[in-house]
Amino acid sequence: MPFADIIGHDSAKALLRSAIVQNRLAHAYLFHGDDRIGKRLLALRLAQALLCETPSDDQEPEACGACRACRQVEARTHPDFMVIEPDREQANPQIKIELIRDIEHQMIYRPLIGDRKICLIDDADRMTIGAANALLKTLEEPPDHSLFVLVSSRPYALPATIRSRCQALRLTTPAQTQVEAAVILKRELPPADAHFLAVLSDGELGRALECNLEQARNSQKEFSVIFSAKGLHSFSTVLTTAEALAKADRGLEAFDWLLRWLRDVLLLAVGAGSDHVLNIDQRTAMQALAERIDIDELLDLISDLEKLERQAHRNVNLQMALETILLRVRHLLAPQNTADASP
Ligand SMILES: [Zn+2]
Repeated sequence: MPFADIIGHDSAKALLRSAIVQNRLAHAYLFHGDDRIGKRLLALRLAQALLCETPSDDQEPEACGACRACRQVEARTHPDFMVIEPDREQANPQIKIELIRDIEHQMIYRPLIGDRKICLIDDADRMTIGAANALLKTLEEPPDHSLFVLVSSRPYALPATIRSRCQALRLTTPAQTQVEAAVILKRELPPADAHFLAVLSDGELGRALECNLEQARNSQKEFSVIFSAKGLHSFSTVLTTAEALAKADRGLEAFDWLLRWLRDVLLLAVGAGSDHVLNIDQRTAMQALAERIDIDELLDLISDLEKLERQAHRNVNLQMALETILLRVRHLLAPQNTADASP
C-alpha cells in the first residue's frame, strides 16, 4: 500500500516523496510524535516505496502494495528490511547492544534484492546507552546503501548525539475528522460509529482502529443508565451501584465513562458544539441538563474526578470514592438543583 492510505501527516509524506524523487534521502530519519498516530506505519510505507518491485512512477513514488517485496516488508521477511524493537513483554522493555551489533553487521553488506538496506528501529528511545553508542558509530559513517528510520514517542529520551545524526520529522496527531475518515474507510463503519470511536480514543488513530466497538457501545449504554436520574434515584441505589462496581473491579471504568459524560455536558453548557461530544445520541437530554445545570458544581466534579483518576493507582478506597461521586452526580441531576436555586 502506498502513502495514500496514511491518514494525515501530509507534510511528512510530501517531504519524503520529494526526497525519493530527487534521490536525496537522508541516511537516518527520526519519526517522532505522540503514541499511536502512525509513525511506524509511515516508516513501513517508506520502506515499501523504496523496495517495491513495481513502483508506480518516478514523479509520484508509490509502492504497489501487492508485489512480493511490498508483502515481504509488511510481513517483515524482506531480506533488505530489518526491524528492531524492544521486547514489550518485559517490565522495562529495552533494545540491547547485541541487537544493534547484529544489525550493524548486516547493514555493511550490499542489499540482496533492491538497492537499499533499511533498518527500522521502533521505540528507539528504549535503546540502552551501550546500544545507542553502538548505533551512533554506524550513523557517523553509514554505508551508502543504508537507511535507518528511528521511531519514538519520547525523542527527548534519545541521546542528543543520536538525534543530531537523524533528520527529524515530527508527526502531529491527526485531526479528529481525519481519524473519523480513517475509521470509516478502514473499518467500513457508519459515520456515527466512526465519530464515537474517534472521540473515545481521544483522537489516537491506532486506538480508534483497534477498539472493540460492540464492547464500547455496551459499556456506554450500561453507564448511561447508571448515571441517569433514574439510575441514581435513591441513596440505596447509589450505594448498591457503588458496591457492585467496586466488587466487579470496574471503579476506574465507571470514573472514565462518567468523566466523558460530564465533559459532554460541559461542552454543551458552554455552547462548544458537538464535534467532540461522545454521547451524541443522548444530545437532547444532555442539552436540557446543560441548560439548567450549575456549571461551578459541574466543574468541581470534573476536576475532582480527574484528580481521582490520577490517584487511582494509590490506595484509594474506590467503593467509598464511587459512593461520594455518585451522590454528587445525583445532586447535580436533581431537578430542583438549578443554577439559581442553591440548596
Ligand atoms: Zn510493490
